[in-house]
Amino acid sequence: MLHTHGVMPFFCECDRAGCFAPAWLTVAEYDHARVQGASIFAQADALARAL
Ligand SMILES: [Zn+2]
Repeated sequence: MLHTHGVMPFFCECDRAGCFAPAWLTVAEYDHARVQGASIFAQADALARAL
């Protein structure tokens, strides 16, 4: 396990084909999403989905 408080790029998991936008999360945030069974989204896609 990485021990970092910085953010790392994870692949966006939106349903847009061919989306390779990076989702910048801390490892803790990524782990939290995995535990919740949630998908992770690049910030721009997350904003678009919230509209
Ligand atoms: Zn995306």
